[in-house]
Amino acid sequence: MTKDHKMEVFENYESSVRSYSRSFPTVFQKAKDYKIWDTEGSEYIDFFAGAGALNYGHNNEQMKEKLIDYISEDGISHSLDMGSTARADFLNQFNDVILKPRGMDYRVMFPGPTGTNTVESALKVARKVTGRDQIIGFTNGFHGMTIGSLAVTGNAMKRKGAGIPLSHAVSMPYDQYLEAADSINYIDQFLQDSGSGVDLPAAVILETVQGEGGINPASAKWLKGIEKLCRKYGMLLIVDDVQAGCGRTGTFFSFEQAGIEPDVICLSKSISGYGLPMALTLIKPQYDQWTPGEHNGTFRGNNMAFITAMEALNFWKDDALSQDIQEKADIIESHLTRFAKSYPALEAQQRGRGFMQGLACGVPEYASKICEAAFENGLIMETSGPKDEVAKLLPPLIIDEEGLLEGLKIMETSIQQVLNK
Ligand code: PMP
Repeated sequence: MTKDHKMEVFENYESSVRSYSRSFPTVFQKAKDYKIWDTEGSEYIDFFAGAGALNYGHNNEQMKEKLIDYISEDGISHSLDMGSTARADFLNQFNDVILKPRGMDYRVMFPGPTGTNTVESALKVARKVTGRDQIIGFTNGFHGMTIGSLAVTGNAMKRKGAGIPLSHAVSMPYDQYLEAADSINYIDQFLQDSGSGVDLPAAVILETVQGEGGINPASAKWLKGIEKLCRKYGMLLIVDDVQAGCGRTGTFFSFEQAGIEPDVICLSKSISGYGLPMALTLIKPQYDQWTPGEHNGTFRGNNMAFITAMEALNFWKDDALSQDIQEKADIIESHLTRFAKSYPALEAQQRGRGFMQGLACGVPEYASKICEAAFENGLIMETSGPKDEVAKLLPPLIIDEEGLLEGLKIMETSIQQVLNK
């Protein structure tokens, strides 16, 4: 069967909403660490990592063994939010390895298995606690596809998909969005002026590095400025760490370098470590004002995900992975900076930090063309940004130097091919 033939089943039976099978038109069969193979036997280096859900690569050996053992022993697979050994062990491990060493005191909520589930729960709890209804989101922010999350998401096409007015949210300029003005002063002015038309919000929700919105990193100064505004106006600070968290920027939480203290933290994607659906909403104890069952759901606490998550958290018992990420991030940064300089026709610049970087192309079409060529050359990467103008790199954090350099080489070859066409 030809490649085109194999894609027919998706074209014939799957909804037109499918997207990644269009960007990467092949049938994947097997994956290990940072590599994926399709049914043709073609090998790909993965610089996409399940959109950040596979920070520890595909089918990590230790996680897989623990999961197989758990299943063979008839461990509990589904239990809503009843007590289970896996749930208890995960909560202990998360507190011991992540929260306590960082001096962080948060209650752990299981909101349902996806990123948008944690965002919705964060917005709800902020509204409940403050009695206010507005939420500040940011230009080019992305928080998920359900109505509350969409209301604080910037992208016009995604917003339109809601089919109803998106309300109870106000969009403000993210760091560097305004060329001429400081966005902190701008927001401050709207909040203090009773004539601004902006009611005092319940919360501010932000990504410290905007993933889908174009790999825009906020400075520590800006994040601290936002935190100050939150304290000044009694708004909760929600950090959506769904994509930037779990080590993606070099520390477990993406805001650690900035030294801010969010009131609510959203985690998902790589928290299970194995690509199994799981999400957490971390809530400062004084704001954990839920009535039992007020926010529930059938899939809140995936026991199999707890098993792999516990293993994933072992990566954070010392700072070896963190250091390794920082070192390899320098390699990525220097390559992207060089690409921008060596190929001026792209009018490109390097963006982002840690293992969340991209090449932002001043001529937007080039980014998609580079990703298409990269796929043909055996490298999986996608675009981001409002015009799909950023060729985005999200390699698994465990990639070795050889794999990283090989992927970057394929990216450069792809740039050359695109420019020579
Ligand atoms: N928040 C951020 C920052 C994200 O990047 C995403 C997904 N790309 C989401 C929320 C939504 O996550 P999910 O697709 O699992 O609902």
